[in-house]
Amino acid sequence: MLSLNLIGSMPQAILTIGMLLVAISGCTSQRMELSTYTPSPTSTPKPSTTSKDVPTKASTATPIPAEESQAVNGSPGTPIPASGRDRQATATQPASQPFTIDSTLCNDGQGPDCTKLRLGDDYLTTSGPAKGYLYSCIGKNPNAPGSIESKITWIDFAHKTWNFLKKLWLPRGTFSPAAGIYSETTTGEKRQITVNNLPVDGKIGDWPMTNYVALTEIDPNPGIPTVRNLSFSYFADPSEAISPSCVSLGAIGVTKNGVVIFNASDARGEDAVAREIVDEFGGHPAMSEYHYHFIPERLDSEYLEDGHSGIVGYINDGFPIYGYKGIGGIEMSNGDLDLCHGHKHGTSGYHYHATLEFPYTIGCYMGNEVSSSPGRGAPPRRQPPRNRP
Ligand SMILES: [Zn+2]
Ligand SMILES: [Zn+2]
Repeated sequence: MLSLNLIGSMPQAILTIGMLLVAISGCTSQRMELSTYTPSPTSTPKPSTTSKDVPTKASTATPIPAEESQAVNGSPGTPIPASGRDRQATATQPASQPFTIDSTLCNDGQGPDCTKLRLGDDYLTTSGPAKGYLYSCIGKNPNAPGSIESKITWIDFAHKTWNFLKKLWLPRGTFSPAAGIYSETTTGEKRQITVNNLPVDGKIGDWPMTNYVALTEIDPNPGIPTVRNLSFSYFADPSEAISPSCVSLGAIGVTKNGVVIFNASDARGEDAVAREIVDEFGGHPAMSEYHYHFIPERLDSEYLEDGHSGIVGYINDGFPIYGYKGIGGIEMSNGDLDLCHGHKHGTSGYHYHATLEFPYTIGCYMGNEVSSSPGRGAPPRRQPPRNRP
């Protein structure tokens, strides 16, 4: 079943398929493609003409040299494009900015301990579904670039935990892409969801992150989110498979905020939420494709009668994903959920839940029919890996 359809004219559709192939093949190859793909007019980043109130940003007088980006990424690679580093510096920057965020979920006395979240690096498996694991279709790729481990201050590598409240996030700023779109209609047995992959609530950070030296030296992601018109077609009444299936890279679902969900791993097969810097609203771009690796807690805003979270999005097997709260409004941990990070209770059908514990969204697909998007499945291996968001 083809579920991820493309909207628009043929040339745009072809371009979008190409971009999707890139996206689905994972973060690594996306950044690799920077020098080879030609963006459509709608995806061309607009040059900044305003200076911004940000600390220690890169100056136009000192662009990041290609060699530096290569060294940072650990292999010869594509230089960071000019659009990602040509913003003007300003002299009115605050001396420092904490770049941390607060979290209601972390302070509710329920669910996992935000100061000692289990680092998910060792919880990716390709051998079969397992509780608390991401059952990935693709194994680890330690040679893929990622955040610079030695620069990450919020992960305790000795104890393999990370601190949500010490993690750094890209703040809001002047970046202002198009308004987000989400439409959902159910016709017959299908649920059709159309988005432009920008947040409906307009909450997005100040991309590109290359303007923030303190952040880009940890995570050199040059991406800038742009409009991506996507349409998803899911069974409105999905059924459970005899055995769960593995999860690929790329979009694994979509939130009601109009932004796609990627699984919990980065290009290396490590914990993307722990390691990668996203904006304070929970997303970051893979080249131009904005996405979440976990459910930003503000999206968990509607509740059922007993305090159980409402639906925050749909997964590619058609089952819904709900927010962080289970029966009685209690925040959930992996221990409350099954192999695929879901459950059934009362009259509700099968559904997944968000947690602040790896794998954050789903561990595997429980549904019978997993929608395939163009190019989904075994992604083409592009070597050597150079860049990744
Ligand atoms: Zn990502
Ligand atoms: Zn539930």
